Amino acid sequence: MQSRNPLMTILACDLGGTRMKIGVMRAGVLLALTVEPANSKAGLAPQLPVLKAACLRLLSELKLTPRDCAGISIAFPSLIDTATGRVLAEYRKFADAMALDLRAWAQCELGLPLAIENDARMALIGEWRAGAGRGVDNLVMMTLGTGLGVCAIIEGRVLRGKHGQAGVLGGHFTVRYGGRACSCGNVGCAEAEASTAFLAELAKSRSDFATSALAPEPVLDFAAVFKHAAAGDACAVALRDHSIQVWATLAVNLNHAYDPEMVIIGGGIMASADVILPAVRAHVARHAHTPWGKVQVVASQLGDHAALVAGEWLLQEQFPNLK
Ligand SMILES: [Zn+2]
Repeated sequence: MQSRNPLMTILACDLGGTRMKIGVMRAGVLLALTVEPANSKAGLAPQLPVLKAACLRLLSELKLTPRDCAGISIAFPSLIDTATGRVLAEYRKFADAMALDLRAWAQCELGLPLAIENDARMALIGEWRAGAGRGVDNLVMMTLGTGLGVCAIIEGRVLRGKHGQAGVLGGHFTVRYGGRACSCGNVGCAEAEASTAFLAELAKSRSDFATSALAPEPVLDFAAVFKHAAAGDACAVALRDHSIQVWATLAVNLNHAYDPEMVIIGGGIMASADVILPAVRAHVARHAHTPWGKVQVVASQLGDHAALVAGEWLLQEQFPNLK
């Protein structure tokens, strides 16, 4: 990789199922940020003008134009062919993205090169370059949220594989033989056993749910589960303990698959890190086979911004002559 331009300015986007984060970064510092609704069910094409307008507005607030930027990065919730910048699969979000040429769009509308990568991978790249994983070249990340995002870096190389799916399907490792059917086609995936997308289904399958303090909650999420579990609600305690067991089991699987020195855990559910981290640490210390020593289990440091922070690294990787 080329030596870094200390003044490199980029546009950095993180497109999620519900929100699009758009930022301007310079030398790893977020100069400006805006968040727009994603309306991802309606597809990506209708959002591209929104994305462009947000980029131009942010730049104008900073008295900049696209000509002051080296490129634009996008973290995207799908598998990506990083050689061509094409989206390879569809997961009920931005269903039209596979048919779009985003590099051509960025060149035509903004005059900029575009680098795009899977969002879980971007989160780990961000943590690796500027967050909890600085100085560590063998690491994995689990992002606990609507789904379970996973990524692995081995000996300083981002694991991608022939079809772009190596490392990022950790959420679909089987943790429970004969378990719940997952949206991916497998059975007993970590994601199907403990993620926000499956939480209501998990809760309602329990016989003690109807009388639980969770039943009247307007939004059934992990914040509610951890809150009522702390107060001793039996259903919430069972859901919390089951979920932690799933995440801890997944962390052991990731250790056995990728040989990391560090496991970083991020995502919205980590608002309850005080309960989750010690439990996962204890389980990994006890059950992961690491005769070389002790794997660190830590919380993400960049939180919501990790995928934006990764933008500069990704652009420099995909366009080595970038200035
Ligand atoms: Zn699955």
